Amino acid sequence: MLTTGRFAPSPTGSLHFGSLVAATASYLAVRQQGGKWLLRIEDLDKPREQPGAANHIIQTLHAYGFEWDDEILFQNQRIPAYHEALAYLQAHTYPCYCSRKHIQQQGHAGEYGWVYPGTCRQQPHVPSKHQHAIRVRTHDQPICFTDAVRGEYCQDLQSELGDFVILRADGLFAYQLAVVVDDAFQGINQVVRGADLLDNTPRQIYLQQLLGLPQPAYAHIPLAANAQGQKLSKQNLAPAIDTHSRVKTLVACLHFLGQPCPAAHEFPDTTTLWDWGIANWNMALVPKIHTQPCNKNGLTP
Ligand code: GLU
Repeated sequence: MLTTGRFAPSPTGSLHFGSLVAATASYLAVRQQGGKWLLRIEDLDKPREQPGAANHIIQTLHAYGFEWDDEILFQNQRIPAYHEALAYLQAHTYPCYCSRKHIQQQGHAGEYGWVYPGTCRQQPHVPSKHQHAIRVRTHDQPICFTDAVRGEYCQDLQSELGDFVILRADGLFAYQLAVVVDDAFQGINQVVRGADLLDNTPRQIYLQQLLGLPQPAYAHIPLAANAQGQKLSKQNLAPAIDTHSRVKTLVACLHFLGQPCPAAHEFPDTTTLWDWGIANWNMALVPKIHTQPCNKNGLTP
């Protein structure tokens, strides 16, 4: 079966070293198997989107020599498909009118945030004129999968998270639903992404089960952190990577990913570097966690 992978950035800021690492890992893992690599712009959360960020991400990937198959998929053009999935899930969902304050008072803080206490699951007959979210009912069977980097990972959705939101009260579809619908739509069977999404995966597997969709293989790669030990992210204003020293930056990505890549001066250009990466990629060498801080080029400051 043809391996199909993807990189799915949200345009909430420019590409930073951590996202380039994720793009590189997913790209090489797929290309080494002669598979397809797709680009999806996850632009559902309009309030968090930064104008121009999607274009900037696409141009930076292009400058670094990434080549994607097919057209880029934009999630904001997929709303009808999410509505269809929501309708299909109807027997497993209910409207939720709870405020954040209510959840904090009635629920309890779990490892992954506030555990929803199930208030609206027990009282489904509340007035429907109020703005409401849609939650999916969870159960207390653990959902387990084997991650190619992290190994066996299990979560009991009901006790560790509670019923979770698939349509937000502001009318936006939640990431969990959109990602599952689109991974299936694009035929993705290998998901390689940052370890910050490891604990989202059981929710996605659960939705795949309810929707009768195939489950991709998952690999969660370590997160790049800054000198303060914070994950590099658009939220904590990780600097955008520049396109001047591309070979050096890609070599830093490969070293970060545990790959015994030769020094940057060994590669005359990005093409020779990609050729090396495709021939030598080894997922088994990717460390579970990474402890070295990085600057914008992935170098230890
Ligand atoms: N859009 C998500 C992000 O930028 C990634 C989603 C995924 O890879 O599943 O963090």
